[in-house]
Amino acid sequence: MESRYKDADAAKAIEKYAAGETLGLRTYTARLLGSVPDLVVHGGGNTSAKGTVHDRLGRELDVLYIKGSGWDLGTIEPAGHPAVRLGPLRDLRKLEKLSDEEMVAELRSALLDASAPTPSVETLLHAFLPAKFVDHTHADAVLALADQPDGEKLCRQVYGNGLVWVPYVMPGFMLAPRVADAFEAAGKDAWVIVLQQHGVFTFGENAKESYERMIRAVTMAERAIADKRRTVMTRGAVVVQGIESRILPRIRGVLARANSDALERGPILHARATDAVHEFLSRSHAEDLVAIGPSTPDHVLRTKPEALFIRDPDYSNLEGLGRRVEAAVQDYGVKYDAYFEEMCKTKGVEKKKLDSLPRVILLPGFGMVTMGKTLADAKVVADVYEHSMAVMSDADDIGTYRPVSRADLFDVEYWSLEQAKIKPQPPMPLGGAVALVTGAASGIGRATAAMYAQLGAHVVMVDRDDSGLESARKPLDPKRVTSYRADMTIEGEVRAAVAHACRTFGGLDILVSNAGDAPQGRLDTSEGAEALRASLEVNLLSHNHAARAACEIMIAQGRGGSLIFNVSKASFNPGKNFGPYAVAKTALLALTRQYAIDLGQYGIRSNAVNADRIRTKLFAGGVVEQRARARGVSVDEYFRDNLLSREVTAEDVAQAFAHLAQARATTGCVITVDGGNAAAFPR
Ligand code: ZN
Repeated sequence: MESRYKDADAAKAIEKYAAGETLGLRTYTARLLGSVPDLVVHGGGNTSAKGTVHDRLGRELDVLYIKGSGWDLGTIEPAGHPAVRLGPLRDLRKLEKLSDEEMVAELRSALLDASAPTPSVETLLHAFLPAKFVDHTHADAVLALADQPDGEKLCRQVYGNGLVWVPYVMPGFMLAPRVADAFEAAGKDAWVIVLQQHGVFTFGENAKESYERMIRAVTMAERAIADKRRTVMTRGAVVVQGIESRILPRIRGVLARANSDALERGPILHARATDAVHEFLSRSHAEDLVAIGPSTPDHVLRTKPEALFIRDPDYSNLEGLGRRVEAAVQDYGVKYDAYFEEMCKTKGVEKKKLDSLPRVILLPGFGMVTMGKTLADAKVVADVYEHSMAVMSDADDIGTYRPVSRADLFDVEYWSLEQAKIKPQPPMPLGGAVALVTGAASGIGRATAAMYAQLGAHVVMVDRDDSGLESARKPLDPKRVTSYRADMTIEGEVRAAVAHACRTFGGLDILVSNAGDAPQGRLDTSEGAEALRASLEVNLLSHNHAARAACEIMIAQGRGGSLIFNVSKASFNPGKNFGPYAVAKTALLALTRQYAIDLGQYGIRSNAVNADRIRTKLFAGGVVEQRARARGVSVDEYFRDNLLSREVTAEDVAQAFAHLAQARATTGCVITVDGGNAAAFPR
């Protein structure tokens, strides 16, 4: 691993952050560490610096700038290292013990800024070490050595007298004096502290020294692993591809059932199939390694104590595989509950059990499937587990993988300070739902996609208008909204769009079938007859393509689903010369009801929204001016010509789409959004 420290960049950082030299450099090297996933991932690791500040009365105070909770090293700002009074914290070393709550109270009351984030749980460890700069990571390469039965010996071979070895102690108050004692007992050559089964600390009199020692420690570990590597026996990975859209919805349904999620809701899945993942899964004893546990205790909240490994999956029978995964998830839950009970009993503690679902499912030949409440969460799990895999492989290649024991892992999994790191999100009306919205580049589709995303859904926006789609998607949250170009009249493209939803989010719960066109003409003319044929393609058959493809996924998930079609006032109140549009839309209303009747047995609901006179591109090209003229009113008056005398907007229609997505007991229904039109009342 190479040092990326550059004196010129360091000088620029001091200037850029304008927070003084110490905090500027602290921010700079914390970011250097945080940008390398082999060192830390997703909020792991912590860093500090010691300095002096003046209080309001002008008195000089010794302080520790320590990483605050909620900050990620890769993106940290000076505010991410709040200052705490060093003296009072160092005094705590005299204590025999300190509860978690007491420690947090001490840390918070030592803050110079009462509104700053709570200092890291490792604050005291940083405070008790004398060096000005202290860096801590969970570097993969060091863990491969430290996660071994003879970890101390291996580390001693690599670092010699430079090593301070600290046997495993759970993070928190008790660890801090142990590390300080070990450091003080070590000779003057000591420059690296390895925490058994946990991670590595380096320190220095300046930011560069501490950072470069970290890089050196990792580089030396990497070389040692390369030297010690034995030949690895793999079974030769046979990789299956292109089945994501058929396998992920089944797994999603299994997990939603196991977690008793509401119908039409479930976890969001992320599938990862890199070469490294395939290589790991094809190891002859990958299953045994997986059962041992994560490479550092910090990972347990993301990945659970173990991943679920499916041995020899049969990809030629996905239905059978789905049943196998279902049974395996059940077994996993039973095992997890037993582990929880046993730990509570042997430790004599009372805890509130977390859910019993795996976070990582491993399918050799296919890859890794991770889950979360959001796609972002699922990706974090995958990132973290990839690093556990890397450590498992290396540790196994050079010896025996032995990370922290299950009993110790339990303490971290059920540690209130650790759980505080993952704050539960407030429930959202469409949280856990995956929706596909067609005609999403403009008007009603665009407004509906935006509203769904705001209500917590993960959304696939589909349209054939590439550039319109891009500008419609841009303002929306990229973590939960994706777009896909497809022409809904081409069945293959529709299926590809639905497959995209499954690949990206793991399945599909809601179809908003909205794309349409408004052709005119008299049916007894040849132009009218031609327009009718084209209209049936766009306004009827394309909806059937979408509904069929969506239902296939919904049935595979087995968690119900919601189809919502955009019919039109023309289905109830046809207009003159509007036959091609009215006939197709009336048929679409019949299609809506037919799906309600035929698919109800699967819990799939089918409803429609009947909207009228919305300023969308259906009215482009002079259509609206022509209609307004025909009625002898202005364009604005035309749009307000309803019982409520108010113009109906695309957002009003989106509200109806959002309501139907939540109306769990409603099917075969039409909601009218037109400001009131007696002639068009549904009958
Ligand atoms: Zn740590």
